[in-house]
Amino acid sequence: MLKARLFDLSLFLIALAIAFSSDRILINHTDFIKVLVVFWLFSSLYYHLRVFSKNGSTNFEHGISYDLSFAMFAGPLGLFIFEFIYRFTVYFYKKWTKTADPSEFLDTLYNIGTFVITNSIAYFLFLQLQSSFEVIPYGFWILMCLLVSVSSFLSGIFLVIVFYILGDLKTVKEGFDFVFKSRSLLDFGKVAFTNGLLYLFLKEEKWEMLISLFILNYIVSHSYHSKSQSIQHKLERDKFEQMAYTDFLTGVFNRTFMDKKMAELNQTGERIGIVVADIDKFKRINDSYNHAVGDKVIQHFAATLKNYLSENDYLFRSGGEEFTLCLRKRNFEETMDLVNTMLNGIKNNRVEVEFNGENLSISYTASFGLYFYTVNEQVSMEKAYIQADQLLLQSKQLGRNRISVINALSSE
Ligand code: GH3
Ligand code: MG
Ligand code: MG
Repeated sequence: MLKARLFDLSLFLIALAIAFSSDRILINHTDFIKVLVVFWLFSSLYYHLRVFSKNGSTNFEHGISYDLSFAMFAGPLGLFIFEFIYRFTVYFYKKWTKTADPSEFLDTLYNIGTFVITNSIAYFLFLQLQSSFEVIPYGFWILMCLLVSVSSFLSGIFLVIVFYILGDLKTVKEGFDFVFKSRSLLDFGKVAFTNGLLYLFLKEEKWEMLISLFILNYIVSHSYHSKSQSIQHKLERDKFEQMAYTDFLTGVFNRTFMDKKMAELNQTGERIGIVVADIDKFKRINDSYNHAVGDKVIQHFAATLKNYLSENDYLFRSGGEEFTLCLRKRNFEETMDLVNTMLNGIKNNRVEVEFNGENLSISYTASFGLYFYTVNEQVSMEKAYIQADQLLLQSKQLGRNRISVINALSSE
């Protein structure tokens, strides 16, 4: 931790040294203040649109940075002043909104340090290479891309050093991957073209264009940001909904979803088989072994029933060891065959369980009630479910391990 702090501090001091050993601010003071205010304002406005990533314990942000054009226009000292004011605005904003990390102050120094060093290096390269690139077509833009690659490669290296010091990096390959693979080409392009345009507008004093570009950038990022947030919210909502409708033990739909689905099926007017299935003498299993073994049997029962279903059918856990099935898109004979197959499947299958350190295989049976009919206004799904439940009771009374059936369509 101490090493990381020293590293943050030394980056800041190197940035300070570069700033004060280089040329004075290249432009007159009034222009500098104007540019400073505009850049500061838009960078601060843009701040909440940044995207955060995490690597181990370190959070870092990537958003568009306007530093390169500022450096090219105002030199390293100008950049240092801009970075200092902007980063400390963010620092005090975070303190004020109580969102600051404990290490926020040093992170701020780190940010000033890296952004000033990397963009100053890009600035010196720009001075050296400018004239050679001017003679080739699109030379300025090619040079911008090159400068962005260099500065972003360097800031990647600084981050990797921090990860290494903090122990968040296990191998050299991880560091290598981070520097070369974690940055997208689209981000490079965005930074290169924005900074190129900003620099040209600054040089030619096209203030309206400059401000329009900032606004355009803001709007595009804002709409992207809102979209990605609403997608994120939808994913979270779907996940909660799925959790709210799923039975924890068996992973099949729960009673809440059954009520919702039945209300929907009421509207379909379709031919349907409602089956209520219940394990026979389940209490005995719980009592002879334990609750955990009982749970395994319930899970096995659910999985076995589910195995026989096609994608149009539904399986709900409607009670402890009682399940309800909606069998659809079949005629009565097909439905009856399927329930018979289930009954035999349950009877002939054994559950492997562990009890008192031993592996046991337990067999069990189940009883079924099937009510087959066409959904209509007089007989809702809820009423049909009660019928099927009555039929299940009949199967229990007749000795269990059997099916009781009413085919309400046989008289039609
Ligand atoms: P029957 O053949 O008449 O259905 O007899 P049964 O013993 O299966 O029926 P009963 O409804 O009397 O008992 C069901 C038992 O299931 C009672 C309850 O303790 C147990 N049970 C309910 N939910 C769970 C569960 O999630 N896990 C376990 N292990 N047992 C449960
Ligand atoms: Mg039972
Ligand atoms: Mg029961």
